[in-house]
Amino acid sequence: MQKEQKELVLAYHEAGHAVIAHALGIAVKYVTTLEDASAALTHSATYLARDADHPAQLEAIRKDVIVCLAGPHSQAKHRRPKKKEPDEWKDDIETASGLAARAGLVATGIDLRRLDENFECCLTAYQAEFAADLFQHCSEKARNLVDEHWTAIDTVAKALLSRPVLNGDDIAELIGRSSSRANGKTPDPARFLPDQR
Ligand SMILES: [Zn+2]
Repeated sequence: MQKEQKELVLAYHEAGHAVIAHALGIAVKYVTTLEDASAALTHSATYLARDADHPAQLEAIRKDVIVCLAGPHSQAKHRRPKKKEPDEWKDDIETASGLAARAGLVATGIDLRRLDENFECCLTAYQAEFAADLFQHCSEKARNLVDEHWTAIDTVAKALLSRPVLNGDDIAELIGRSSSRANGKTPDPARFLPDQR
């Protein structure tokens, strides 16, 4: 793949994380496509909800899993990868699986603050199934959100090509601009029809 194409693929991947985090109300610190450091750094909803009740914790974990998987879905919408799961998806999939496993524990009333690092190996069958279902649902949700927010993702990805580091304010501004442009581009056709009455 050409260098520019690679950069563009990376830009759509990271823009996917950033725009969907923003859409879910998760603060974005920065997004970058700098070589060897490409990342979208967002707050962790799971961490922020660590002392909340279990339904709120589950909701937060779901959001983080969706943000994780929005990167690969956005990248795939821009350009379908040759491999089913390219290497650059590995970290996202691992993080999302770890979070989904946590959700399985929360769903059965386990206090996450008491977990050790190897909790994933000791899930019960029910917890593992809960985790797998949650992963699947969040993946579908991430794909739908990427479709829904494609104009904004496209705007942020293209901006990353000329400015490889964007902070949270830049992202918010680009998303705001793209939504007003999207509204201008697709006017409601009914507005131009003669009054039916
Ligand atoms: Zn990613």
